[in-house]
Amino acid sequence: MLAASVIDELKAALGPEGVREHEPMSAHTTFRIGGPADAFVCPASVSQVQEVVRICHAAGVKLWVIGCGSDLLVADRGLSGVVMEVGERLSRIDVDGCRLIVQAGATNAAVSEAACAHGLSGYEFACGIPGTVGGAAIMNAGAYDGEFADVARELTCVDARGALVHVTHDQADWGYRHSMMDDSGLIVVEAVLELAPASPADVRAAIDDLTQRRTSKQPLDLPSAGSTFKRPEGYFAGKLIQDAGLRGYRVGGAQVSEKHTGFVVNAGGATAADVRQLIADVQDRVRASQGVDLHPEVRMWGFDA
Ligand SMILES: Cc1cc2nc3c(=O)[nH]c(=O)nc-3n(C[C@H](O)[C@H](O)[C@H](O)COP(=O)(O)OP(=O)(O)OC[C@H]3O[C@@H](n4cnc5c(N)ncnc54)[C@H](O)[C@@H]3O)c2cc1C
Repeated sequence: MLAASVIDELKAALGPEGVREHEPMSAHTTFRIGGPADAFVCPASVSQVQEVVRICHAAGVKLWVIGCGSDLLVADRGLSGVVMEVGERLSRIDVDGCRLIVQAGATNAAVSEAACAHGLSGYEFACGIPGTVGGAAIMNAGAYDGEFADVARELTCVDARGALVHVTHDQADWGYRHSMMDDSGLIVVEAVLELAPASPADVRAAIDDLTQRRTSKQPLDLPSAGSTFKRPEGYFAGKLIQDAGLRGYRVGGAQVSEKHTGFVVNAGGATAADVRQLIADVQDRVRASQGVDLHPEVRMWGFDA
C-alpha cells in the first residue's frame, strides 16, 4: 500500500493523467496475466522519468520499469510499489544520416519501419520482437543472427537517484541476454543506433521474410512472453521440451505451445501460478529425462523467492 503523499507527489510531477492506482498488470503484459500494481505511471519526458525515480527513492518505494511487458510474468497478487512504463509517451525517433536517435519507449517494430522508410538496414532482425528499445537494450534482444548490440552505439540512462548517465557501447557490456544496465539498475531513456544505407525495397523484403518466418513458426495467435527459457549451451530448449514429451502439456490455462514447444502460452484464463507451475514441471521433466537445466528467460515479478 503506497502512502497517499507519494501518489500526490507523482500526480504533481506527471499530471493526474500520468498516474493510475491499482492498475491491473494483465493489461500491460503480453501474457495478459498479472494482478494490480499499487501505482502505474507513464512519464512523457526524460525529466519526468528522473522525477519519478527521485520521488520513489526518497520515499523508499520499490520502482519497477516496463516497456511492452513482453518478457514478464507478473504474480496474480500484483506488485507493491510503483510501475513506470517507458512506452508510447517516450517514443520519438529522429534520423540523422545513418544514425537513429530513439527514445526508449519506441517499439522495435516502429524503429524497423522508420529505418526502412529512410533506406537504412540493420534493425530488420528486431521487427517482430514485440518490445521496446529500452527492453531490447536491457537484455540485448536478438533474433535471426542479429542482436541489439550490433547496431547500438550509445545510450542515455537514468540512475537510481535520478541522474542522467551516458553509456558507451563498451560500457554496456552486452552478452547473451545480458547488459551492464540490467546489472546496475539503470533505466534506459534513449539509444543511438548506427545503421547502413540500403535500398528501402531490400529492407522491406528482409522485414517481410522475417515476419513470414516468425508467423509460420511461432504461436502468435495466443498470449505469451516469447521463448520461455534461455538457450542452454549446446541445445535448443524447444527440442529438449519436445523430446521430454511435453508438447501441449497443460497446467490450468497455461500450456506448452502445440506449435512451438519453446513457448508457454496462455491458452485461456491462465493465472501466473499456472504458468509458474508449468515452468517448474518442464524444468523437472527435462532435467530428469535429459539431464539439462533450463533457466527461464521470462522475468518473474512479485513472487516469493
Ligand atoms: C511473441 C514473442 C516473441 C518474442 N521474440 C523474441 C526474440 O526473437 N528475441 C528476443 O530477444 N526476445 C523475444 N521476445 C521477448 C521480448 O519481446 C524481448 O525480451 C523484449 O526485448 C522485451 O522488451 P519489453 O519492452 O517488452 O520489456 P519488458 O518485458 O517490459 O521488460 C523486460 C525487462 O526489461 C526491463 N526494461 C524494459 N524497459 C526498460 C527501460 N527503458 N529501462 C530499463 N529497463 C527496462 C524491465 O525492467 C524488465 O526487467 C519475444 C516475446 C514475445 C511475446
